[in-house]
Amino acid sequence: MINMRYFCSMFENQERTEIDQLGEFALIEHLTAKFQLENEGIIVPLGDDAAVFKSDENTVYSTDMLVEGIHFDLSYVPLKHLGYKAAVVNISDIAAMNARCRYLSLNIAISNRFSAEALEEFYAGFSLACERYKVTLIGGDTSASQSGMVISVSAIGYADEKRIARRNSAKENDLLIVSGDLGGAFMGLQVLEREKAVFVDNPEIQPDLEGNDYILERQLKPEARVDIVEMLEELGVVPTSMIDISDGLASECHHIAKQSEVGIAIYEEKIPIDPMTHSRARDFELDPTTCALNGGEDYELLFTVKQEDWDKIKGNPNMTAIGHITDKNSGLQLITQSGNSHPIEAQGWNHFSSEDEG
Ligand code: ADP
Ligand code: MG
Repeated sequence: MINMRYFCSMFENQERTEIDQLGEFALIEHLTAKFQLENEGIIVPLGDDAAVFKSDENTVYSTDMLVEGIHFDLSYVPLKHLGYKAAVVNISDIAAMNARCRYLSLNIAISNRFSAEALEEFYAGFSLACERYKVTLIGGDTSASQSGMVISVSAIGYADEKRIARRNSAKENDLLIVSGDLGGAFMGLQVLEREKAVFVDNPEIQPDLEGNDYILERQLKPEARVDIVEMLEELGVVPTSMIDISDGLASECHHIAKQSEVGIAIYEEKIPIDPMTHSRARDFELDPTTCALNGGEDYELLFTVKQEDWDKIKGNPNMTAIGHITDKNSGLQLITQSGNSHPIEAQGWNHFSSEDEG
């Protein structure tokens, strides 16, 4: 699925149209031409001084920035995937409020090392996510950059007030649930970093990504769990708190614990880990549980529900109960198979330190 011709793909484009050749206005027109810009809520679409859209529900807003060299490495991230991911991470933030994303805006700064074709790839990925998640692009801005690529996306969504799920409202004895499986995106990144190191040492050697499709997709083409938001509504469950897993399970648990003023107990054997993540972690001599706890970018939803809602959720293959909420003084504890308790430290991703702690 992940095609290796993408390695350093942006420098291998056969056609190359300089951005100055097109001019800013033609460029924007060209890039946004393939988007569905109108929908029933839009009064004035992208292209004017500002967009106008109707909103008669509670408006949910979020914004995120992706910086080259900090959040992504273009030597192995295909621009199309990056465009897709830039949209998805914002759609995921809206989903994490138990809300639905409707609109996105996209700001982008690029240096002249990017051709119009490279940008087109990025926009193709972004537009694919817009179609897939039924989200409309309502605006953006374009600027030159002296060095790397900077992407900033803002998302607007809607939520029924009674269904909004915050980080600060988990209560003692609530169950802790996670969607999907964890640690895959992190193991995908390890494989890509390993192959990059091999490639840098000897560009003649073709990167070996065989047999890693699932974890590479988890890293390069994550999905936002809007399906979970819909399922919870159908099941008649309002989570008592919710967050999306961008920095790792441990870090997100710390956010919920701190803001809700509670403790959390997680059972190690319950943490869902895909067999491929597990075996690749072993190959890299990493502990699979640590990868699930501290590896980020899975974009799964982590939420709490009242015990009485468990019957509605149990048996659903998309959701796993991994622990429960305890009192504040108990802190964050990982309970191992043998029944021992270990405090969980939040590592997350510290972009400001020179060494990655993750
Ligand atoms: P202004 O000078 O008023 O900011 P722009 O020329 O920057 O106008 O933008 C014109 C229109 O194109 C606006 O509707 C804006 O939202 C949209 N736009 C500009 N850049 C982008 C971009 N990179 N992606 C999507 N839409 C964009
Ligand atoms: Mg502008």
